[in-house]
Amino acid sequence: MKKIDYRKLGLFIPVICIVLMGMIVMKKPPEIVSVSTTAVSNKTAERPKKIALTFDDGPHPRYTEQILDGLAERNVKATFFVLGRNIKGNEDIIKRIQDEGHLIGNHSYDHVRLTSLRLETAYEDLNKVNQCIYDITGVYPIYVRPPFGEWRKGLDCKMNMIPVLWTVDSKDWQLKNADKIVKNVVKKVKEGDIILMHDWYSTSVTATMQIVDELQKQGYDFVTVDELI
Ligand SMILES: [Zn+2]
Repeated sequence: MKKIDYRKLGLFIPVICIVLMGMIVMKKPPEIVSVSTTAVSNKTAERPKKIALTFDDGPHPRYTEQILDGLAERNVKATFFVLGRNIKGNEDIIKRIQDEGHLIGNHSYDHVRLTSLRLETAYEDLNKVNQCIYDITGVYPIYVRPPFGEWRKGLDCKMNMIPVLWTVDSKDWQLKNADKIVKNVVKKVKEGDIILMHDWYSTSVTATMQIVDELQKQGYDFVTVDELI
């Protein structure tokens, strides 16, 4: 009697399974296959290009609210990296930023160069701001924008915070001219960019709205930085 070779049989079983699965797939009505393909390609074509607006140095008693008004009208979310020293007296603005779905980050207490501080002092500085924000919003920020873009090594482990720099500098603090700021941003911008602005100048308010209007026309979707990192 011929012996059955079980090793060969072991090879045949997966092959048979694949053939059977192939037959099941082939039996699908063709229209279902074509519908799902169309749905996928439409989704890809309509996928918005994500981009993030970030505002440093606030909250400002007038300009931050003006920016919030303009962003609300345009249904845009942004990220505000606030200075601890500017929170006192502007607690309602911090609350409003939170309530309107924007993200609040830490920009140090006094716009200090973190690299010039001892690790412990830098930690205390950022912690103080986190506590101020928490006292108002009930949420500890996890994103930090180091002043001058200089991050103190080792702080991220100690603080459990994520440093966020930028990819497009609007130079709004330097240009102080809405048209020039808009041109400077719009010519450089691409999908996934993080734009640096300051809610500290009236020209930045005007420029922000023009940038949003222009980039929304180009199919950009403004999101908070946590969606890009
Ligand atoms: Zn700053």
